[in-house]
Amino acid sequence: MWRGGVAAVGLLRGRGAGSPRAASGATAASVQLRRRLEKELEGIRGAGTWKNERVIASRQGPHLHLAGGGAGILNFCANNYLGLSSHPEVIRAAVEALETFGAGLSSVRFICGTQSIHKDLEEKIARFHQREDAILYASCFDANAGIFEALLTPEDAVLSDELNHASIIDGIRLCKANKYRYKHMDMQDLEAKLQEAQKHRLRLVATDGAFSMDGDIAPLREICQLAQKYDALVFIDECHATGFLGPNGRGTDELLGVMDKVTIVNSTLGKALGGAAGGYTTGPKPLIDLLRQRSRPYLFSNSLPPAVVGCASKALDLLMESNAIAQSMAAKTQRFRSKMTAAGFTISGKDHPICPVMLGDARLASVMAEDMLNRGIYVIGFSYPVVPKGKARIRVQISAVHSDEDIDRCVEAFIEVGRKHGALP
Ligand code: PLP
Repeated sequence: MWRGGVAAVGLLRGRGAGSPRAASGATAASVQLRRRLEKELEGIRGAGTWKNERVIASRQGPHLHLAGGGAGILNFCANNYLGLSSHPEVIRAAVEALETFGAGLSSVRFICGTQSIHKDLEEKIARFHQREDAILYASCFDANAGIFEALLTPEDAVLSDELNHASIIDGIRLCKANKYRYKHMDMQDLEAKLQEAQKHRLRLVATDGAFSMDGDIAPLREICQLAQKYDALVFIDECHATGFLGPNGRGTDELLGVMDKVTIVNSTLGKALGGAAGGYTTGPKPLIDLLRQRSRPYLFSNSLPPAVVGCASKALDLLMESNAIAQSMAAKTQRFRSKMTAAGFTISGKDHPICPVMLGDARLASVMAEDMLNRGIYVIGFSYPVVPKGKARIRVQISAVHSDEDIDRCVEAFIEVGRKHGALP
């Protein structure tokens, strides 16, 4: 047996120092590792930042069954913005792809892992975003991990919003370009950093299109103007925009009228576009060609499973057939935001289905979220270190498949719970 395997089995079984293997280096190391891990876990619990996972025993959707009995729970914390995760046509497309193309490819794309459906989906993504070409990844995390290193060298510079998603931050860490971090959506600071970065060969401004913790939308018009002035390229992460922002759901760049000014779009298939998994980059053809040659998460990871490709492909068909789906959520978002504001709550962001109910105090956010669940409403409290200290909140996410009654029930529960815990007078 592989030695690491023996150590791992010992670790899992919790052999102590007195076990028959105590004399071997591997076992001593595993005991030491177990102690270190337990200490670290205690630290996380002690800091109050332990993340529990609630187990769902039904499909993703506005109404959930939780394992252990909770039935008829109203769900307000998924990124299922368009309700396509359990759409019958999306599910049927997944089943058909599974039956026709099998469970998976057992291969990366360039060895023997490219099927016609992968090429079709890439073509469809590029058409949807009105870009030249697209490349699929196992996730948008991977797309973000792969792009900066492949594109930028020590001669170049990347300018990144300080509140960009963790995967952008990690992707930038992996590249050797000069790094500039500008204050969140602060155009004066971005301009100052662009001036500083003039000495480099190429400048890339990287920003989330919509920021997931605050529901705020990047000022892309201004970013693109600055990029033009200082000869920079613009990259956006559209995970919380693709499928529903803009008149046809193309995203933040469509919403703000700058589709022709943003060079690179990364996004996910794991949120509004069917919710299964997968991510992509879309942009100029030579960039996509280069990513196929150089991007490590693409080159060294398995192809997307056919069922996942089937889901995303059908979701895009639905969105390209009609803009009714993309438009369907806006009125519900508006209903929730205006009723909550009228009740006295502060909702961060503007016109985005991510509606953070700002509470300030971490304990208040946590007990209120728990009490909402007691009333059958599933929402999640976020506090430091996920959001800045003193800015704890409950993040509510609206979906096109919430009914007006669902939204009103959620607002009523917030008012009751808010009064009970002193968040409202
Ligand atoms: N970028 C942003 C802004 C996200 O919110 C997420 C997911 O949480 C990702 C990237 C990663 O997407 P995926 O789940 O496809 O890896």
